[in-house]
Amino acid sequence: MSAKATPMNNSMPDWLNALPPLRGKLLPDVMLGDICWFRVGGPADVVFMPADEADLGAFLKALPDDVPLTIMGAGSNVLVRDRGLRGAVIRLGASFGTVTQSGDTELTAGAGALDVRLARAAADAALSGLAFYRGIPGAVGGAVAMNAGAYGGETAEVLVDVEWFDRSGEKHVSTVDELALSYRHNGQSGFALYTSARFRGVAGDQAKITADMEAISDKREETQPIKSRTGGSTFKNPGGADPDGVKAWKLIDAAGCRGLRVGDAQVSEQHCNFLINHGVARAADLETLGETVREKVRESSGVSLGWEIKRLGEAQ
Ligand SMILES: Cc1cc2nc3c(=O)[nH]c(=O)nc-3n(C[C@H](O)[C@H](O)[C@H](O)COP(=O)(O)OP(=O)(O)OC[C@H]3O[C@@H](n4cnc5c(N)ncnc54)[C@H](O)[C@@H]3O)c2cc1C
Repeated sequence: MSAKATPMNNSMPDWLNALPPLRGKLLPDVMLGDICWFRVGGPADVVFMPADEADLGAFLKALPDDVPLTIMGAGSNVLVRDRGLRGAVIRLGASFGTVTQSGDTELTAGAGALDVRLARAAADAALSGLAFYRGIPGAVGGAVAMNAGAYGGETAEVLVDVEWFDRSGEKHVSTVDELALSYRHNGQSGFALYTSARFRGVAGDQAKITADMEAISDKREETQPIKSRTGGSTFKNPGGADPDGVKAWKLIDAAGCRGLRVGDAQVSEQHCNFLINHGVARAADLETLGETVREKVRESSGVSLGWEIKRLGEAQ
């Protein structure tokens, strides 16, 4: 199927007509609230879901430099503002979702594969070290972009290298060291769209790995509002990945913010570094709530919390 864009109304951007025939999906006026965990966020002018790498490369090569471009994964760590996103949003779908064993102790995952799929593939291959991905609801590209981690594991420790596209459609390979990953941060500069990642585990006992994954899953259900409309941890821990370091939730609790509300947005009673959309919150409500929490924490502890969640789109 050719996805050559046919303008559907007068508001369709002109640059769509300059694109070559594409095999993936070019979707105009997509409400991003429908695909993000928070269930808030205005429309994207266009969402492009490439059919494969060649299709992605053709799109990037043809996209004019002045068209804003945003990458979206599973939408589990973003707060898209109410006015939405201008230009194009690229989202990798099922065609980038495979996980294959690529060596005795290595797995290669498409950047569109969910982290849970990677964890299960590691368990199937009896590789330990990747069980922590079991509870992270994002996709592999987002895990590389955020250096996702949990329960003592993080992407930087198990990643070998990544394939990625630059804004002009050229493909590159970088080692994990070249990404300069640190706590919830990727130090790569410029536009980089990860398309696949190679991970290394350690040969282990399959029954133990599976039990570890189940324990992680149970612990999350007990301690986090994982069935809610949320974006996960809102703020970075000031103490970073250090298990004994200062935790954002403790500062938020001490500042009296547990359960704080702005409209339908609330600081979770269960885990107060999570914000919840109870149903009809707007992105602005969630952001105002987050900024209010930051202010109260600053007043009570002197610590300035940094957003972990990526806020996308123009502020109102
Ligand atoms: C209930 C819940 C629990 C969570 N628990 C954890 C946890 O324990 N540990 C943890 O680290 N995180 C956690 N998170 C946050 C989130 O799941 C992770 O940050 C995840 O790695 C984000 O992946 P994503 O695919 O959803 O990315 P998105 O949220 O869609 O995007 C996040 C960032 O990554 C960029 N990005 C996404 N895909 C790509 C790509 N292919 N190439 C380049 N850049 C890309 C986006 O541009 C954006 O800047 C949690 C979230 C929720 C909702």
